Amino acid sequence: MYCPSCGKADQSPETYCRQCGLFLSDFSKRSIQEATPEENLKVNSVLSLLTIIASFTLAILLYAILAFRENTHWLIYATAGLLIAIGGWHIQSFIRSRQLRRQWQRRVSDQDAMSSASLQNPTTSKLLTTPAQDAAIPPTVTEDTTRNLANTRIRSS
Ligand SMILES: [Zn+2]
Repeated sequence: MYCPSCGKADQSPETYCRQCGLFLSDFSKRSIQEATPEENLKVNSVLSLLTIIASFTLAILLYAILAFRENTHWLIYATAGLLIAIGGWHIQSFIRSRQLRRQWQRRVSDQDAMSSASLQNPTTSKLLTTPAQDAAIPPTVTEDTTRNLANTRIRSS
């Protein structure tokens, strides 16, 4: 690959440039490795669902096989209770992941619609790229005072 900074050829990715020392990251590899937020949320929901099934099944088995007998140890009840709590926690985690995924999909489609609309409409795209000078906060008190004085002078004259 070529160095994007100095343009030296025959460089290996994920190393430093031999001429200018810039780190050359392999973008093609990175895009494959990195999962999108949507994919991460999907994995999250699947793992939550598996945990829900496993913890509730184990809790039911504990109650059915070991609990409610004369010599049942209190740890059985404690463990079953903990398993139910874990299951409950993962139910809300599962619901939250699904909601987040839906929000993410909505946001992405909104952004697509907005960017295509602004590209089609020249007035909108100009308004989006031009900063509003009046609404901008001045960086210093001195500048703010200067601007206020100038405005007053214009109004009074
Ligand atoms: Zn270079």
